[in-house]
This record gives sequence, C-alpha cells and structure tokens, in this order.
Amino acid sequence: MSGKRVYAFGAGSTESEGLGKNLLGGKGFGLAEMSRLGIPVPPGFTITTEVCNAYNENGGQYPDGLDAEVAGHVTQLEGALGQKFGDPGDPLLVSVRSGAPLSMPGMMDTILNLGLNDAIVDAQSQLPAFDTRSLLDAYRRLIAMYSNIVMDLPRPPFEAALTAARGKQGVATDAELSRESLAEVCGKFMGIVAEAGKTFPQDPKEQLWGAITAVFLSWNGDRAKAYRKINGISDQLGTAVNVQAMVFGNRGIDCATGVAFTRNPATGERRTYGEFLTNAQGEDVVAGIRTPQTIEATASSPGLAADFPDAARDLEAVAQRLEAHFRDMQDLEFTIQHGKLFMLQTRTGKRTGPAAVRIAAEMVGEGVIDSAEALKRVEPQHLVQMLAPVFDLEQKRQAVAGHRLLAKGLPAGPGAAAGRIALTAEKAASMAAVPGADPVILVRAETSPEDIVGMHVAAGILTSRGGMTSHAAVVARGMGKPCVVGAGDLSVDEHDGIRVGDRHLAEGDEISIDGTTGEVIAGRLKSVPSAVLDGLRSGRSDEPGAKAFVEILGWADHVRRLKVRANADTPTDAEAARLFGAQGIGLCRTEHMFFEEERIPWVRRMILANDEAERKESLARLLPMQQSDFEGIFAALPGLPITIRLLDPPLHEFLPHGEKAIRALAEQMGVAPEVVETKSEQLHEANPMLGHRGCRLGLTAPDIYDMQVEAIVRAACVRAKTGEKVRPEIMVPLVGSVSEMVALRERIIQVRDRILLAEGQEIEILVGTMIEVPRAALVAGKIAEHADFFSFGTNDLTQMTFGFSRDDVGSFLPHYLESGILDVDPFASVDEDGVGQLVRMACEQGRATNANLHLGVCGEHGGDPRSVHFFDQVGLDYVSCSPYRVPIARLAAARARLGVGSGGKDTS
Ligand code: PEP
Ligand code: MG
Repeated sequence: MSGKRVYAFGAGSTESEGLGKNLLGGKGFGLAEMSRLGIPVPPGFTITTEVCNAYNENGGQYPDGLDAEVAGHVTQLEGALGQKFGDPGDPLLVSVRSGAPLSMPGMMDTILNLGLNDAIVDAQSQLPAFDTRSLLDAYRRLIAMYSNIVMDLPRPPFEAALTAARGKQGVATDAELSRESLAEVCGKFMGIVAEAGKTFPQDPKEQLWGAITAVFLSWNGDRAKAYRKINGISDQLGTAVNVQAMVFGNRGIDCATGVAFTRNPATGERRTYGEFLTNAQGEDVVAGIRTPQTIEATASSPGLAADFPDAARDLEAVAQRLEAHFRDMQDLEFTIQHGKLFMLQTRTGKRTGPAAVRIAAEMVGEGVIDSAEALKRVEPQHLVQMLAPVFDLEQKRQAVAGHRLLAKGLPAGPGAAAGRIALTAEKAASMAAVPGADPVILVRAETSPEDIVGMHVAAGILTSRGGMTSHAAVVARGMGKPCVVGAGDLSVDEHDGIRVGDRHLAEGDEISIDGTTGEVIAGRLKSVPSAVLDGLRSGRSDEPGAKAFVEILGWADHVRRLKVRANADTPTDAEAARLFGAQGIGLCRTEHMFFEEERIPWVRRMILANDEAERKESLARLLPMQQSDFEGIFAALPGLPITIRLLDPPLHEFLPHGEKAIRALAEQMGVAPEVVETKSEQLHEANPMLGHRGCRLGLTAPDIYDMQVEAIVRAACVRAKTGEKVRPEIMVPLVGSVSEMVALRERIIQVRDRILLAEGQEIEILVGTMIEVPRAALVAGKIAEHADFFSFGTNDLTQMTFGFSRDDVGSFLPHYLESGILDVDPFASVDEDGVGQLVRMACEQGRATNANLHLGVCGEHGGDPRSVHFFDQVGLDYVSCSPYRVPIARLAAARARLGVGSGGKDTS
C-alpha cells in the first residue's frame, strides 16, 4: 500500500474530491461532501479504510510513513485553527471516530475531547469559572472514554463515581454538576485508572495514537463482528478513522447537541425530525442517558427554535440542502456552540419498512428520483413490515380500561409485538432457542450495542430510558422490529424485573408493546392486520403508507417480466390472492378441500370402501363439493389461469390416528374398529413421502382423478355459461417417468373432452405436470412432449435432490447453518448450484422439445426474493407463492430486472 492515506476536510474544501465511501468510510465521505458544499463542518482529516485493513493484516503494524502523514495533518489543523495540541493556553481538542463504508450504528468506538490533560485543565482553571466547568466536564468524559475504549477498563466504576457525585451534590443530571464536583469526579476517575494499574497518558499525541489504534481494533470487536454477521456485511471493508476539531455542545445553555433526520425514519413523513439536548455532548443523546427534547415543538417540548432560533433555521436549510444533494433521507448529527450550528455527520438514514416505502414513493412524486431508483431502494422485507399486524384495538382498549397500560414510551419502531419478558440479551437468546418457544420481548433499562444478539432474536424491544435516536433504537428500526424506548415510568432491573407503581413483572411474564404508539401493556394482546392491509381490503388508498405501497407495486409491475401467481386452495385464499395482485393461481392443492368437516367422512368412506359401488358413491358425494370450490375460485379470478393439482398425499394421511379416533370413525361408519385398523395398517408406509402418493395414486386408483377432473371441467362450464372466461390448468403431481405422464394425460383428456362435449362448451384446459422428482428434471425433454406446462415443485425437488426430509430437517439444519456447512436454508432459498441446475436443465430440455411449454414454480421458493431473481434468470414464465408474499414477489421480480437483490442481504 502506498500513496496518500490521510485526507483533510473542512472550511469549504476537501482533499478527497472524487473518492468514495469505500476509502473514506460513510462518515468521512459525508464530512468531505459537506465541506465541499460549504456547510459549516469543524475541520479535520480522515485516515482511510485501507490503513485499517493493512493494520489488521500486518499483525498490528502501521504502514511506513503513516505517522509523518498524520503529524502533517495535525500541524495543518493547528495552523487552520490557531491552536496547538497540548498548549495549556489554547489547546487543540479533537474527536476520534470510526466510520465504516456501511453504517454500523454504535458498533465501533468514538473518543471525544482528546488532547486534554492535567496541565491544560490547571491552566484553564485561571480562566472564568464557566468555561472551566465545561472543560472539566469534557475531561471527565475523556478519561472515562479513553480508559474504557483504549485501556479496556470496565465502565461501571466510572458510572458509579458519577452517580455518587450527583448524590453528593443533590442533583438529578450530570449537566447540573458543579465545577467542584466535576473536579472531584476527574480525581476519582484517575484513581480508578491507577487502581487498575494503568496510567492515563498526558501527551496528546500518545492519546491520539491510542485512540486511532482502538478504533481500528474495534472493527474486529465482538459486537462489530456480530452486527456484520447479522447484516451480511463483509469483514473486508474495514473502517476509516476521522479526527476532527471539537466543537462543544456542553459549554453552557447556549450550547446543544442533537441528531436529526430529514424525514421521519419511522413513518417516512416529510418533515425534519429529531432530538437535542441543551448543554450536552453527542454521546449523551445517542447513549440514551437523558431523554432529549424534540426539534419540533410539541405539547411536551418547546422545540429547538425556542432557544436556538438561528441554529434551528440553519439546521432546516442544511437538512433540505443535504437531502437534495444526496437525493435520499439523511441522518444528521449536529452541535450548537454558543448559538452557532456545526454539522458533524450526514449519512443515508436507516428507516423502517413503512418509511422506506413512503420516502421512495414520495421522492418520485417530488421529482427527486425516478421510479426505477425507488424500486432499487425498497427491499422486499420493507413490504413485509408494512403488512405486519397491529394490536386489536378493542382488546387494547379493554386492557387500558382494565389498568393494564403500564407506561407510554416513544414509538421507536412500528408494529405490534407480544411475548415473554427477557431481561438480558443472553436470556433472550436462550429463551428464543427453545423449540416452539413463545416470542420474546427484550426489556432493558437502556439497550446498548452489546445487546445486538438479544435484539436479533427478540420479537420486540422495550427500554425505560433513551430517545428515538438512541443507537439501540436505530438498530431495532434497521432490523424492522417493533420497539418502544424511553418508557420512563418503568423501573427496569435485570435482576428484579419491571416495576411500575406497585406492580411487578418478572422475567418470563407476558407483555405487549406497540411500537407505533409507544404503549406498553401487561399481558398478551391479540394482533390484527395493518393499515395497508385494511386499505387494500377496503379499496381505499388515501392513507399515505397504503398509497405508497400501491404506487411502488404499480411501478414494479411495469418493470418485471416474470408473472406472479398465488398458491391458493379455497375461494377465500383466491380472494386474498386477487387483493395482492396475483395474476392467477399457480397451485391449488385439492387435498386441502378434503379435510373440511362435512367432506372428510366421505373421503374416509372412499378409502375404506369394501367394493366398487361403495367407492363410487363416496366419490359421487365428493364431486359436487369439489366442483363448488372450483367455481368459487374461478369466480374470484375471472379470466386468469388457475392451476389445479390432482390429489397428491398418500391416502393414509386422511385416516384418523390413535385408538380412540379409529373407534369413533368405525362407529360413525357402522363397521368394526378392526376394519379401520386393518385398512390403516395396509396403507401404512415406512417412507410415505416416497411412497404411494401423487401420480402413483392416480394410476392405481384412477377414479379419484377422474372425479377431480370432472369437477374441474364441470365448474369451468358453469362459469363459462355465465359468459366469463375461465382458464383451468390440470396438473399431475410427482411424475418421474414419461410413461406415467402419458397414461395419465390420456385419461385426463378423455374425461375432459367427454364433459366438454356433453356440456357443449369449448374451453381451453391445459394438462401439465409438476417437476418435483429429480428424474423428471433429467428426462424433462421427453415429458415435455406430453405436457402443456411444467410447474417446478421445488419443495419436493429440494427434499429429493438433497435427500433431506422436509419434515425432519429441524434436527440438523440449524447445525448446518451455524457451522457454515450450508450458507442458507435450501427450503427457504433455492439451492442454485444443485436444485437450480436441475431447474435450468429441465427448462432448456423442455423448451427444446415443446416450444409452447409454459414454465413456472410453485414451491415455497416462489416467494423468496433471492430465488425469484434466479427464476427470472432461468427464464421461467411465472412464480407462484402464498397470497401474502405476492407483493414481495412482484417487487423482487422487478428488482431482478433492475439487477438488484440477487444475493446476501441489502444493508444500505
Ligand atoms: C412442492 O413440492 O414444491 C410443492 C409445491 O408441492 P407440496 O409442497 O404440496 O409437496
Ligand atoms: Mg410436492
């Protein structure tokens, strides 16, 4: 590595023009851009990510010449500010902050006020008391931060000393500590350092290198590594280090520090949104120690403009300017020093799913971005969050009336979550790891970045302290978790539980949190569909979120090539499919219709029939029931293709299990229990998923398929007679040999044509097959000669290709994923190398022998964004998935065309 590694910024200019985030990190890049735009940024310099990588690769050795380069920049900074490092009269003080190319809030380290030492503090004590107080405040922060981050001393003794000082002076907050108290605190802190056998360095240059090294090392700290793993961020990126002249938000009541978003990160509403603390430093806001005031004036806050009118006006202008420059919602950090605004950071703001969708759609409306860009920014997961349930309002009202409302905090991450309380991240992880466990709500006094793993497994997060922009709240939002912070009425203790008034909730008790309203309720509330879902159902899209949702999907529909169908078994499912914009049904599993209460006895009679006549009678009873279902489904999606699969599971699945149930059935059917038992034993198979099912059943008991085909064709005729267009497709499951398909197709066509002729109708009814047995994929060219379509059943195809039982993977798959033997669950995301190769081959061979062959997929993978990308690439005509995943597939199919979302998680 050679060449320039340190770049200056500030004062309307930057050395790093043309360099990007990969080298400068997100924070360094933002500071450079703001400098270039002439926005007030305290000057400083950025050491690139390349240095971090070189340092970590070379066993903790810096590249040659780096020290001289850094020293040169320090001299330059001293010159620009007329201050000197270590000068007791007018010392240069800097912050040292990490800044990775992708934002990792709170995961790495920051040190403020660097450059202070005993000599400076002594000299400054001669100056007017007010400034000395703030200097002592800065010094005690530096000693604590440096000791913790660079010298690895634990934080609690420092916090305890601070608490003791507040108690001694009789004040509630650190901001009220007097100059004398702070001097005493500094002395106590030095004592803690000495007791640990360490020395706090007095030389500012030594402090600087200690801090730089600590930031580079924090890239490989446990919490940064855990965050990267969860968010799929590469370990190779490295972090930059930003050294920047300090400005002070803690120099009196005309000073403040805060964070702001150019739009509301929870809802997406267009309005500068954020929080500030008067007379404080940045770490106080993000650490959630004091609950900040809102920038906007509200009933409980006079707003920033009340005390800082000029800075508030400037902040608004800067926010607008930065958003227009970066063409995206920005997350800003600022400090006000004696009434003047300084910007410390701008970066693309993390947002919830609903906010992502609304911001993208509204920015298209404002002409800031085009619709393709909006589709790139909205991830399928964002739509999932918009469809997430909310609490049942009536139940909530009753809970509130019944005095179960424990507190109201800040609504940091929207959505409803209910579950059992975990008081530590470790406990949350262990509770969630129990198979079949209830959801877990992580409850902490204040969440800290160390809690990342617990937050990941929790269904929701609740804290008693902290603001909307506390680091942990930001992380929760990024994860899309319901989150309530700053519920100040709660006293939370990780050993004792939650106390509020005379109520006590212990670990394991049930609790509900509403991340949209901030309410915290004892007990478990039921949830109901989201506003978007409600809007779709009622056909109203005036609610801004619902409007944006519909717009984004409308743009996706223009871009995508793949069609999207739904898997739906009943008219109700078909109705949901229509609501979500499905372009047909790709899989109707007819066996699900057999399980309904009035039908199952006839199915059982058919299976247990003693003779042909009895069997035929049962089938005759089932026929009109199936027919009416098909009529309902055709009516829900008129004119759209509906693929109906003939019976698939082994007959054994329809018989009751257990002595009592067998006796009841025997009684109901008027036969001896032994008859049922014997039949059940006859049907029992050692390996039913590879047994007598699918087309094998169709060939050995053909009258079942005959009945189903007749029901489909009769239903089609009924609808056609109303003048409606119907497009049924009959699908044969589990074909592995060409001859299976040939025999069944011939019989299906005979029945189909007989009914059509009798009804005097001419309806096109296709006959095709699933490709779900690997052999079918291998001989696909031949099968295609006898099929109008293929639908890949990737559930079974994955099961049989891997040889993994779909129903039993739970015992080993978690281990495979944990240990890296497999990267992803192949039942969730298609295995491109193996199963995908079979799909690709079957498509090519099938199309080679049947140019009109229609191709789709109806396994679970049809609703998985990564798999949808793959299916687009291999040239399928459609994907089919559960109705609720149809919007996800529509968006994923568009993003596939735009070349985004193919692998890993999006972390932007
Ligand atoms: C499949 O195997 O992928 C499929 C869709 O069928 P089922 O899940 O019903 O076996
Ligand atoms: Mg299957």
